[in-house]
Amino acid sequence: MSADTAKKTFVIKGIGASPGIVKGKAQLFDRMDTHASFYKLTDPSQVTREVKRLRKALRDSEKQLVEVKTKLSDVVGPEPLYIIDVHLMILTDKKFVTHSVQHIRSKMVNAEWAVRMTVDKYREIFDRVDDDYLRGRFSDIQYVGQRVLTNLAGKNVGEVAPLEEGVIIIAQDLSPADTAQMVIDRVGGFATDIGGRTSHTAIVARSMEIPAVVGLESGTRLIRNDDEVIIDGSSGLVIVNPDPEMLVRYEEKRKHYLKTKADSLKQANLPAVTQDRYRVEIGGNIEFIEEIPSVVTHGADGIGLYRTEFIYINKENPPTEEEHFSHYRRVVGVKGLTWSTIRTFDLGGDKFFSGSKVAKEMNPQMGLRAIRFCLREEKLFKIQLKAILRASALGKTRILFPMISGVEEIRQAKRVLEEVKAELTAEEVVYGDDVEIGGMIEVPSAVIIARELAREVDFFSIGTNDLIQYVLAIDRINDRVTYLYEPLHPAVLRLIKQVVDIGHEEGIRVAMCGEMAGDPSYTMILLGMELDELSMNPLAIPKVKRIVRNSTLKECKALLKKVINLSSASEIRSFVEKSMRKRFPEEFPLNSDNN
Ligand code: PEP
Ligand code: MG
Repeated sequence: MSADTAKKTFVIKGIGASPGIVKGKAQLFDRMDTHASFYKLTDPSQVTREVKRLRKALRDSEKQLVEVKTKLSDVVGPEPLYIIDVHLMILTDKKFVTHSVQHIRSKMVNAEWAVRMTVDKYREIFDRVDDDYLRGRFSDIQYVGQRVLTNLAGKNVGEVAPLEEGVIIIAQDLSPADTAQMVIDRVGGFATDIGGRTSHTAIVARSMEIPAVVGLESGTRLIRNDDEVIIDGSSGLVIVNPDPEMLVRYEEKRKHYLKTKADSLKQANLPAVTQDRYRVEIGGNIEFIEEIPSVVTHGADGIGLYRTEFIYINKENPPTEEEHFSHYRRVVGVKGLTWSTIRTFDLGGDKFFSGSKVAKEMNPQMGLRAIRFCLREEKLFKIQLKAILRASALGKTRILFPMISGVEEIRQAKRVLEEVKAELTAEEVVYGDDVEIGGMIEVPSAVIIARELAREVDFFSIGTNDLIQYVLAIDRINDRVTYLYEPLHPAVLRLIKQVVDIGHEEGIRVAMCGEMAGDPSYTMILLGMELDELSMNPLAIPKVKRIVRNSTLKECKALLKKVINLSSASEIRSFVEKSMRKRFPEEFPLNSDNN
């Protein structure tokens, strides 16, 4: 038996960050800072030399990032590049530079040590932040620090060692810029010890369609250079030194994945029309601008929900009007899409914000969040509305107000919007003349007063994520009660139907943008209610469209009629699951979770 064949087969479970299956040789990516040396300066003359070294390393780092950005824009277009812009901003941030210089001067340490001190200072600040997501954004500062350290060590960071085409990178963590470099070098896939699905690195991998698994914890400890590995980014598995049987199985899985992907994309651009010609519009939900290309390729008609609060990531201060505008102008008027729904920020609840404006609350989900926060902080709200209106001159824009619980809120929001319009008119700034106003229906009271609300807006968008949590009294982020979080609860279905019916009686469009809209097992039920738009995670679009295109409105209505008056969630669930399996056996095979 050769040494190679004697290698032990094992599987490590992580989090699937970017779907797809790829096989290749492992290449461990050594984090750069392990090579840095740290020492005290003994002579004041060394200070000038260290400051010079630091400034050169900063310049080199900036140059490299700009180069990566330029090369990358040739490969993937401009959308995912803003993450590199964030790194450039940190790199050229006055505080980052002056703190490091000060450390050299006052603490008499070499440039490497000074950079490390600056990064550690930021770590202390981030560690005090309660929100997991926001705390995770410290990694951006860390990446920049590591790049500078590598340049101080005289290493060429642009290349993560020369990468062979098709290798699988195994790393503790990767910066989005490293990930971008890997796209250029055509690595096959990657796996990291830390990170979650929402890390920037995972987002970049998804938008560039490189299979990736994150959160392995011990990958760099267990995997060796040149081990043969399979990355299963769909299931979050890394198979190390697969035995012949596994190789065959995974090769089949890989082919199946590619075929399904190709098939689903083939039909992705066909309209979502049932066989008896009921047309439902399909939207893509986005949190980041770099997801826009995926919305287009997966066949959306428009952007159905842009969660603008994500602009606040890594911000100590609220964004300026120009920062807002720089995002919105890219969301509106996208080639291939016909409209964009920009939701005003939904801060508070489980959403992050690093500024001091959002106080800690006992029960943040029911606290000063979303529209309540906006109306309280009218100045901030106006800045955002002004930027949205300016962008509306560039393409069909819908403005959506979150968490509306009463008519006063929507009236106040509209009053503020009118004031902003008047200001723009006075300043002779153009804005779209066909901007639609929508209210999110995600609080039970909004369902009960839907008729009054419908008279105030052009459209509704049902936010089932929150609506379910408030109707069933289930905290949506508490995993101890997830078993009760049931979209098919009769109370939920009847409320949704009530909203759609009233909306239509009042002559307005009714959309749904909660996660329920993107789950294909609910598509027929939602069609039966005659929703006008379903907006979802872009990856979910092809499957939902397939269900729409292969059913009739008539049968959807019949299914809805059968379940809506059943008395329990479990009865409805078993009826719906059975019907969907029977109707679409390929989409809903037995023992599948449909993901
Ligand atoms: C919802 O509540 O369903 C929704 C779409 O908004 P979010 O998930 O951002 O709260
Ligand atoms: Mg919501």
